[in-house]
Amino acid sequence: MKIALFNEYKIGVVKEDCIYDITDLLNWDTEKPQQSFVTLMKNFKDLKPRIESSLREGEHYALSNVRLRPPIPNPGKIVAAPVNYYLHQDEMNEQFNNAEYTIEKLGFFLKAPSSIIGPEEMIRLPFKDRRTDHEAELAFVVGKRAKDVPASEAHHYIFGYFALMDITVRGKEDRPWRKSFDTFTPIGPWVVTADEFGDPNSVGFKLWVGEELRQSANTKDLIYDCYKFFEAASAAMTLEPGDILTTGTPEGVGPITKGDTVRIQIDRIGEFSVSVDYKEEVHS
Ligand code: MN
Repeated sequence: MKIALFNEYKIGVVKEDCIYDITDLLNWDTEKPQQSFVTLMKNFKDLKPRIESSLREGEHYALSNVRLRPPIPNPGKIVAAPVNYYLHQDEMNEQFNNAEYTIEKLGFFLKAPSSIIGPEEMIRLPFKDRRTDHEAELAFVVGKRAKDVPASEAHHYIFGYFALMDITVRGKEDRPWRKSFDTFTPIGPWVVTADEFGDPNSVGFKLWVGEELRQSANTKDLIYDCYKFFEAASAAMTLEPGDILTTGTPEGVGPITKGDTVRIQIDRIGEFSVSVDYKEEVHS
């Protein structure tokens, strides 16, 4: 099932080019979409048949006529993998000459949840004179509280998958600073539930800037795959329902600038594009 938030934080199910409004069916609170999403995940097994049968006659709209919102609008935390593809490690060493370790030595970092934007919003660059890059990533949302979960059990704790751009200022500062500016985490276009998505460790994805294909990869090349990353993250900290984990970017990262349109596509999920501008105070 593809679950999207739209317009004034209503909730819907996406089928082909339509979105079916299930806001009333779920007793969904549009003022508290994050909390409502956590409740939905908790009750999803029971609700799923009711949701599916409601779609036959439910109110629906053309996707092109609604505004999609970030599907996980305000998680408690975003846990992000650094250098989780070997070819990305190579390009970082070539371009910046910093002999970076991979995730095995680096562990992982947190991004500010306030950096999240929806799939129809705009990235606002805070600097004209700092290289700022796109990073295409497969991300997922934690479905229930998890601590010390082995990789073999991780799939029981992951509710669904979506596309994430980890926008990053290059430089020597710590990652949380370079990656946490407002608008630096576009997510979307919706959450595909784990039962529909299938194997997250064998999925292709791409990112374009304008017409130029910049990144094209497959999660089968992850160093820590989704489940191993979940194990490592949950060994360090309690993962709460609604938290986001993002698995890291493959090779092909590159700069974005004012006027660009950045598009991400993940097989079995879908795609979205966001535009790029400077932050207002940087224009002058
Ligand atoms: Mn990243």
